[in-house]
Amino acid sequence: MAQIAIIGGAGYVGLTYAVAFTELGHEVVALDIDPTKVSTLLAGRSPIYAPGLDELLQRGLASGCLRFTTEYADAVPGADFAFLCVGTPTAADGGADMTYVRAAARSVAEHATGHVIVVNKSTVPVGSATLVAHILAEHAAPGATFAVVSNPEFVAEGVAIQDIFNPDRIVVGSDDPVAGLRVAALYAALNAPVVVTDPASAEMIKYASNAFLATKISFINEVAAICERLGADVTEVARGVGLDGRIGQRFLRAGAGFGGSCFPKDVRALGTMARHAGVEPRVLDAVLAVNASARDQVVAKVIELLGGVRGKTIAILGLAFKPDTDDVRDAPALDIIRRLVAAGARVKATDPVAMPHVARLLPEAELAADAYAAAADADAIVLVTEWAGYRGLDLARLAAAMRGRLVVDGRNALSPTAVAAAGLIYVGVGRATPAAAAAPTLPVAFTVSGLAQVDMVALALGDDASFVSSGSD
Ligand code: NAD
Repeated sequence: MAQIAIIGGAGYVGLTYAVAFTELGHEVVALDIDPTKVSTLLAGRSPIYAPGLDELLQRGLASGCLRFTTEYADAVPGADFAFLCVGTPTAADGGADMTYVRAAARSVAEHATGHVIVVNKSTVPVGSATLVAHILAEHAAPGATFAVVSNPEFVAEGVAIQDIFNPDRIVVGSDDPVAGLRVAALYAALNAPVVVTDPASAEMIKYASNAFLATKISFINEVAAICERLGADVTEVARGVGLDGRIGQRFLRAGAGFGGSCFPKDVRALGTMARHAGVEPRVLDAVLAVNASARDQVVAKVIELLGGVRGKTIAILGLAFKPDTDDVRDAPALDIIRRLVAAGARVKATDPVAMPHVARLLPEAELAADAYAAAADADAIVLVTEWAGYRGLDLARLAAAMRGRLVVDGRNALSPTAVAAAGLIYVGVGRATPAAAAAPTLPVAFTVSGLAQVDMVALALGDDASFVSSGSD
């Protein structure tokens, strides 16, 4: 059993690791400088939402092997390992802001007793293991010694607990082989492949992994834009492409683009690292540009298809950046809402768990208890986060609640035919738009490829669509 201090232990990564290491049989003290989050944890509740987290938290607390504190003096003395899990947000130059990592490393150094293995679990730029080692040496308490290990984290929010216990790989980078092996040994029970490497390569593995996944998303979004013009259905295309074992199905879903606290900032940070190193990050720049346009497209479709949104009511389904989390950092929904409000819309938004985080961030949006309340008197519904519950919505009930008929499915999560059968006009991302049951009879041209998606919907919306699309071939 190891004594582990988790620094940033009330955050998404820190807290999930605190409960996971307790579950694996270690003695854990989770430290965070946010007193509100820590007092919530001391009261036995989680300040964040992650499936499975509450149960492990209760079990950890009951075992007596998991504690929470705001005091370094309480967490670090006696620890064998100190995991740095603090945030690394985007700095002014697009790189990773290392303020929290520097502060955490310094505090660990000042409170350490004996030999401590300091583990960089935060996503940090290449060279950070060396940086942390310097800070530790500079501020070391008398008698304290350190080894630094890079151990980047690959969990995905929404399935973090599942990912922790079933990792694809563990990456351990250190110039100190003994320290590296001791970190790897903490995960031994998980039977995962372990990549033992140097710190710089370990740090780069994390950025390259996230950048690749983000590239897959932007790639399929670009394909979706082409499909939309040429009459192909990107969901069919992605299925056919993804069955190629060399490509795979995952991260090939077209939609409103990626958000969250990792992909956007990590792609930007890798681009900044590249520029500093004299490499022009052409692919990374394109990934970010396509991602921005995926959000633009959702807003543009709503505005075009409603003939402007001034005075119109738009229901937004989903606020979290992805399902099964309450994390709204850089969530596409927030961006989309702000732009619709700026264009004069009244926005009623809903989300199963993220609403408490949004009330403060988005005073311009009204929050509705559920999808049906959001849809009441709405001219359009825009689905931005594909929560499972939204796939099972009673579409007839939604249609009855709405004033208008437009459904923009920003995640291709709904069945176009089911939406149409409810008398609504379905618009997805890069997929065909079926005629709504109650829509006017469509001209023959509607059924063949060659018309841009918005043109087709304009025909279906008839008099409601007072715009002239620039999208036709
Ligand atoms: P977070 O903001 O949820 O958590 C960070 C926590 O650190 C906060 O609770 C904050 O109060 C605390 N903190 C800040 N400075 C501190 C200090 N000096 N001492 C102690 N605590 C301090 O962030 P997160 O989403 O958990 O991300 C943490 C790191 O892990 C980032 O580098 C991120 O890129 C990386 N990461 C995140 C995920 C994810 O799913 N969120 C996945 C992989 C990697």
